[in-house]
Amino acid sequence: MDLRFTSEDEAFREEVRAFVRKAVPADMARRTRQGLHTTKEDLKLWNRILYEKGWAAPHWPKEFGGTGWSALQIYLFEEECAAADAPFLSYFGLRLLGPLLYTFGTPEQQEKYIEDILSGETFWCQGFSEPSAGSDLAAVKTTAVRDGDGWVINGQKLWTTEAHYADKMFCLARTDTTVKPQKGGLTIFLFDMNQPGVTVRPILTLDEEHSVNEVFLDNIRVGPEDVLGGEIGQGWTHAKFLLGNERVTNAQVPRSKRDLEILKKIALMERDSDGVPMLQKPDIRQRIAQIEIDLAGLEWSVLRELAQGHGEHSAPIASGLKIVGSEIQQDIATLLVDLLGIKGLAVHTDREQANDLPADAPDYVVGAAARQLFMRAATIYAGTSEIQRGIIAKQAFGL
Ligand SMILES: Cc1cc2nc3c(=O)[nH]c(=O)nc-3n(C[C@H](O)[C@H](O)[C@H](O)COP(=O)(O)OP(=O)(O)OC[C@H]3O[C@@H](n4cnc5c(N)ncnc54)[C@H](O)[C@@H]3O)c2cc1C
Repeated sequence: MDLRFTSEDEAFREEVRAFVRKAVPADMARRTRQGLHTTKEDLKLWNRILYEKGWAAPHWPKEFGGTGWSALQIYLFEEECAAADAPFLSYFGLRLLGPLLYTFGTPEQQEKYIEDILSGETFWCQGFSEPSAGSDLAAVKTTAVRDGDGWVINGQKLWTTEAHYADKMFCLARTDTTVKPQKGGLTIFLFDMNQPGVTVRPILTLDEEHSVNEVFLDNIRVGPEDVLGGEIGQGWTHAKFLLGNERVTNAQVPRSKRDLEILKKIALMERDSDGVPMLQKPDIRQRIAQIEIDLAGLEWSVLRELAQGHGEHSAPIASGLKIVGSEIQQDIATLLVDLLGIKGLAVHTDREQANDLPADAPDYVVGAAARQLFMRAATIYAGTSEIQRGIIAKQAFGL
């Protein structure tokens, strides 16, 4: 297996770089660099720019709006987007629901939803987790009860990212309590967030920001055409497919490479009380070196997976990549805060509202502590590290 880039790969990289660096608005790039939660406006604009170029969903099959690039080219594209400080496009439509729709959706559902996901016209949120069902999705209590030829949904979802600005939800619900959830008891439904009966309550996370929510569903009516795949009882199969994709995506190598590059620049600029650049301090150098080694190892593992066939990830490999990728994100965010010393302790995400921030404090101070705090969630969302280790152990011991 040869993992080196060919001259065609490098030419492709240059083409993508030239476009992306010009296309990302400067203000948007600054917000991404600072690690702030992406705003709806930024998401919509960047989505629109890539859509018009035909690059909104390179990982999708060409017939559904993908680019037809190889897995390696897609990786190069993602690396160039991260290097240009472009925000991640909305995860839930493009990464999660889109693939579910083109793989399992009915032709009518594909026709109805896919183009608007691609263009960023419609934003989706993922209604899976509940107060007592996060790691164990089989414990989902939200019910969907048949009513005529449609369904009525009642229940509560928790930690729903972007529910406060999503147009629609794909929602996992119990459709049959007489069988096991894994054996036909669950179904995914698609519905509008902007309707009576949907209540969204914000949850502020450790970084004092709002990206997740509680969502209450009170007699939500869904027609038979919005049962994912048109078939009741397929929710477990659909959820498993979706979670596999989610874990691989979360290896986040391009983003971590960019964050590490920025961190090294900051380590050169920041000085201790004797005026010595932080980059020259042995403990800092050692921590940076360790992250660099771990990240290089992760990158080669991701590239090896891609070289062996995109989308063919076995569950334990996806789990391993997710564990390491999320820990590296946390290590980078923590090291940045440590580097900044006292300046790194205050949670600023908005320069104008940060009264205690000296006027000459560089931009990279704003958002650093908030990101470090939010990154605690990286080993929880998309399946906790303990759950991932369980998946690996099952495979290793043939359980
Ligand atoms: C920032 C953020 C965004 C999120 N966004 C979304 C979203 O958009 N949509 C959505 O549906 N969900 C979302 N989630 C929810 C996320 O998927 C769950 O938090 C996660 O799956 C863990 O579930 P839980 O919080 O219920 O914890 P629990 O499942 O109750 O786990 C509690 C602890 O027990 C451990 N544990 C549980 N079961 C096992 C086991 N079998 N073996 C070993 N250890 C175990 C866990 O590792 C954890 O440490 C989000 C979460 C966060 C933090």
